[in-house]
Amino acid sequence: MDLGIEGRTALVSGASKGLGQACALALAQEGVAVTLVARNEAALQAAAQQIRHATGVRVAVVAADITTAAGQASALAACPDPDILVTNAGGPKPGDFRDWARADWLAALDANMLTPIALIKATVDGMMARGFGRIVNITSAAVKAPIDILGLSNGARSGLTGFVAGLARSTVARNVTINNLLPGPFATDRLSATLDAAAHMSGRSHAAVQAEWLARNPAGRFGSAEEFGKTCAYLCSAHAGYLNGQNVLLDGGAYPGVF
Ligand code: NAP
Repeated sequence: MDLGIEGRTALVSGASKGLGQACALALAQEGVAVTLVARNEAALQAAAQQIRHATGVRVAVVAADITTAAGQASALAACPDPDILVTNAGGPKPGDFRDWARADWLAALDANMLTPIALIKATVDGMMARGFGRIVNITSAAVKAPIDILGLSNGARSGLTGFVAGLARSTVARNVTINNLLPGPFATDRLSATLDAAAHMSGRSHAAVQAEWLARNPAGRFGSAEEFGKTCAYLCSAHAGYLNGQNVLLDGGAYPGVF
């Protein structure tokens, strides 16, 4: 299917590896010029080169911390009027809430709630004025089914989810959709770190925890970043203009509820 977004521009943060990179690649495969943001410049350049090589589209990079005002300004200077915005940053550290100080909560809110809101604020009015916009926030399945050791993520992302639910209803009449894409377990560095933390906290091996997580997923496997990226590209497609304000769960059916 032609997604109808060839020639569009996209700003993708948290894009040097994992789910963010897969979203950038899938958009580039549709002919979208992408601007990638991440902190580690070497990894970012490698990701950009890989996408250029695979697609031939224009790929720009911004080595910056997207959770800072300066990082957001650099990203927006490189891609001031994106047609597509994919917000992403690293997830907060796992742990026991008794060990978290106010600063930990503020860092989580900055990364997983306030940064997406700031990027939306800077771009959504231009999208509405131009009559096309697609915003996808990478959040987490933990928004629907909280994971005990990811309390910082559960809390911060729920705040973003509530905000987006309100805003999306005011943009769609101008063909600007805002949706959240909720990853369940996807085979990335982040998942490996989460499994390590779960193993450490329960006194078991990484392999034992991984086997347990695999066994309880109806698909019997972790998702691939490519599957995630392709779904993101569809949400950003010309055809998805009526798909708005949703929390799209990608978890192999692990969430047991009907809705
Ligand atoms: P990942 O493999 O660790 O990749 C994270 C990406 O974000 C990297 O490119 C990283 O590059 C970049 N990044 C992190 N902090 C950043 C910052 N402050 N500014 C700019 N870029 C930043 O993670 P992932 O698995 O793709 O996960 C993406 C998001 O989905 C995370 O928020 C994660 O918590 C969430 N999630 C993932 C899973 C899963 O199973 N994978 C499940 C639920 C939720 P640099 O470090 O170089 O900046």
